[in-house]
Amino acid sequence: MFSRKALQISPSPTLSINARAKQLQSEGRDIIGFGAGEPDFDTPLHIREAAIDALNQGFTRYTPASGTPELKEAVCQKFFTDNGLHYKPQQIVISNGAKHSLANVFATLLNEGDEVIIPIPYWVSYPELVKLYGGVPVFIDTKKEHGYKLRGPALERALSPRTKALILNSPGNPGGQVYSRDELEELATVALQKNLYIIADEIYEKLIYNGAKHFSIASFGEEIKNQSIIVNGVSKTYAMTGWRIGYTASDEKIAAIMSSIQSHTTSNPNSIAQKAALAALTGPQDCVLEMRQSFDERRNYAFERINKMPFLDCVEPLGAFYLFVRVEDTFPRKFKGETIGNSERLVALLLDHYLVALVPGSGFGAPGFVRFSYATSRENIRSGLERMESFLEELE
Ligand SMILES: *Cc1c(COP(=O)(O)O)cnc(C)c1O
Repeated sequence: MFSRKALQISPSPTLSINARAKQLQSEGRDIIGFGAGEPDFDTPLHIREAAIDALNQGFTRYTPASGTPELKEAVCQKFFTDNGLHYKPQQIVISNGAKHSLANVFATLLNEGDEVIIPIPYWVSYPELVKLYGGVPVFIDTKKEHGYKLRGPALERALSPRTKALILNSPGNPGGQVYSRDELEELATVALQKNLYIIADEIYEKLIYNGAKHFSIASFGEEIKNQSIIVNGVSKTYAMTGWRIGYTASDEKIAAIMSSIQSHTTSNPNSIAQKAALAALTGPQDCVLEMRQSFDERRNYAFERINKMPFLDCVEPLGAFYLFVRVEDTFPRKFKGETIGNSERLVALLLDHYLVALVPGSGFGAPGFVRFSYATSRENIRSGLERMESFLEELE
């Protein structure tokens, strides 16, 4: 018999729609995909060159399991410059992507039955990772009038004697929500009172728009810093998803356990990729600004246009590169005589009849929504939105 924990894990809900989109594409159909969970840019040249140099210089052996000292130093410097946070290198663990960092965090914190609070909408992997490490995900719904962000009283209501941690993802995927300083302080107060760990996924830190400001909850004082584990990485900021470098900053004891787990599971993250990440963090940052500007233009364009469409409703996202669109009002409508009913069906109809690929919201805990990624060209966005408009016009 297989592992009970492993059998509890659901396959990624985005996979079946992606498979269908790929199949249609291979049949020569002109699919416009808004499913991407990664930047469409190439990794900036100076970062690629650092990797080539590392390779040519023979930087091809094992490094310390939790990352090279120089990369940890660069990460400490990043936390100081960007977040006003002082960490020592022994508080940093470099991993094979932020997803791996999250896995290390749960492996370190959770005992069988420990509850982890996850605000809705959430990134698809959180509940599955929590379950894999013996935890129990506890979901909290959020409200439109709160910008789909978790508030202190709702957090308090969800607590039990088994609550171990809260996952906080700001800027958020899929919602694009960015927590304000006040909102974070309210949550930090509850976390301190109840001794909760805060797992702060800040992977979209640099992708924020329209004057929004990113705050790291760990920067509000020593106490909350000690209970926070920050997860970040280079994938989204530097268009480096394939390189697989993520990192955590935490209490030294937690870092030591994570590092020991990593030493027995994956050993060090790829040595060349660590050199590339070093170049990303210490090199010129204008590439980040350029990519951010380009995302922002697409965001403005897509947001304005989607908000004018009938039946759709979207709160302005201030971070990441997604629009999370409420599509519930289409459910009672009919397309070619068939009642739409749910977001999976909506997405399937859009794909089959208008060759547009979106991601249904169910995998993010929000079945009344779809996720639209604007990490694709302006031209794709324009024609994809046109197709969506035609589809909506056809609804009865
Ligand atoms: C992409 C993503 C990650 C994982 O990033 P990797 O470093 O590529 O593993 C983590 N959290 C969120 C919210 C993401 O969207």
